[in-house]
Amino acid sequence: MRIALAFPPSLCLPNHLYYGLVTLAGIAKAAGHPVVTGVDLNQAAAEALLTERQGLLALQFLEQRLIGLRGAAQLEAAERLEALRNAVQENLRAAPEHVRVLRDPADYFVPERFARAFWGVVDALGFYYQLDPIISPFREHFLADVDRALRADTDSPMPALYEQGLLDEVLARDPELVCLTLAFPEQVLESFRLARLLKRRRPGIHIALGGPMLNVKTERWFEQGWIFDSFDSVFVGDAGQALPELIESLDGRRARESVTNLLWRDTRGTVRRNTEVAVLDDLRSLPLPDFEPFDLKRAFTPRPIYPAMLSRGCYWGRCTFCSIGWRENYRVLPPERIRDLARLIAAQPAARFVGMADSSVPPAAARQFSQVIRDERLGLVWEGGMKFAKPFLDADYVETLAAGGCRSLKLGFESASQRVLDLMDKGVQLAEIPRMLEQMRRVGISPELFWFIGFPTESRREALQTLEWLLEHRQLYDLTGFVGDYQLHPDTEVFDHPERYGVTVVDQDNGYCRYVLAVGLQQDELQVLKRLLACNNNRTLICNGSHLLHVAELGPASLRGLERPMQVPTEVRVLLSEPVA
Ligand code: SF4
Repeated sequence: MRIALAFPPSLCLPNHLYYGLVTLAGIAKAAGHPVVTGVDLNQAAAEALLTERQGLLALQFLEQRLIGLRGAAQLEAAERLEALRNAVQENLRAAPEHVRVLRDPADYFVPERFARAFWGVVDALGFYYQLDPIISPFREHFLADVDRALRADTDSPMPALYEQGLLDEVLARDPELVCLTLAFPEQVLESFRLARLLKRRRPGIHIALGGPMLNVKTERWFEQGWIFDSFDSVFVGDAGQALPELIESLDGRRARESVTNLLWRDTRGTVRRNTEVAVLDDLRSLPLPDFEPFDLKRAFTPRPIYPAMLSRGCYWGRCTFCSIGWRENYRVLPPERIRDLARLIAAQPAARFVGMADSSVPPAAARQFSQVIRDERLGLVWEGGMKFAKPFLDADYVETLAAGGCRSLKLGFESASQRVLDLMDKGVQLAEIPRMLEQMRRVGISPELFWFIGFPTESRREALQTLEWLLEHRQLYDLTGFVGDYQLHPDTEVFDHPERYGVTVVDQDNGYCRYVLAVGLQQDELQVLKRLLACNNNRTLICNGSHLLHVAELGPASLRGLERPMQVPTEVRVLLSEPVA
């Protein structure tokens, strides 16, 4: 069977390939059906948007809008749009040059060239992607809203991009089965859009949909069976068993009723669910990933970053602000599979850089991965997200990680108030963090810290304390990602037990809750502080993983030239100097 795998546009800067795709490709290959086409449409869409032609179209669009607003005497709106146009026009024009710089092995490592190109691409893509609505299954009338958005006129360039090349990429090798992976809310509308256009172009094609987003409010996806107008098969749960069984079923060798994790619509129009409780893959027997169908050279880096994933879910799984999709169903690869994965990646073309896709890499798994790289001299370097944990106090542990290629760690610092950290259930002692950071820096691992303000009950003084701590300890880390203000999501511990956090939920929409607090920073003050601190945001750079190349080739100090530097506005300095109440 000819299979194509596609990752629908996720409306953000492309980073390393979504790991679920290479996992699916590995499963198909092990079942005797190597994937004929694998395409990251988020990467393909970004490429198509960052062209001279698209930049000119966008500027024309903005100009026409401005003329229309001025003609209708909507002067305030015109002023805002003009400010947006002025802010973004240079990067829309320069986008092709930015892409060239990011792919160039020399220019990439010149800090000012990289910073200009990287942040220019971020701003240009941010402009395009704000034109598309994000519709999450947390919306009450989720599918009706998706349908309405699909029918509405849109300013988004995405529908045209599908017709002008993205569909061709998926259909290039005449697949019989197309599998779409849906991991983020930003992809929901795009997945439906893509599936409908594929069906229109090739009515006989079988389109399957799966991915973690289907676990969110699962029942809403299947209301009235409407989803099956766009997709022939939908999976809730993992694909290890499900994909080979679907292939057998499509080949006529298995009844559809027996395909694991499958939901489908029978000839009478009834929605059938084959597996009531989703079956999850056993990582001990899951086939190794297959990178071959994917062109990693398309990335906006001079050398590819290979994705790796040593676990599913989160081994800690307790942070009270964290969404369930990040923390549930924890499983980890056994040591021999970690070894096989490291060897497999090292054998790929131009392999050197690895980005871990785990929610939080378990400490033992990180050590095992590093030991293989060190002992077998695989020459890989890697970055990933980990939690502050006791092993980082152990000199031998960090030395092993560094010797095994660890160059950068994304760490959830969150707050410099022990009381707030405890309420978040972060499981870390603030007093131990400087020692952990010192250990990392001593061996050449670059720590990047994420933080946010406004966790329920956090006072203004506590929020400022975090900023003070970061300024005081500036020599102990390299980049910070200010995540912004706390967002209450409906799939978190805080939402389940609001009384423990002094929270009263007012309403919710699209995955975000409005709430009032008994104590702590109130929304108006929080928003002011957030706006003042917004410039301290290197989150995109850190999450994207592009910084790994700089750390690995030039050392952690090189990151200072790439960031949007940490700044403290005068208003915040005044607050910081206030006496503690
Ligand atoms: S915030 Fe990180 S460490 Fe905490 S539960 Fe979520 S993924 Fe795990």
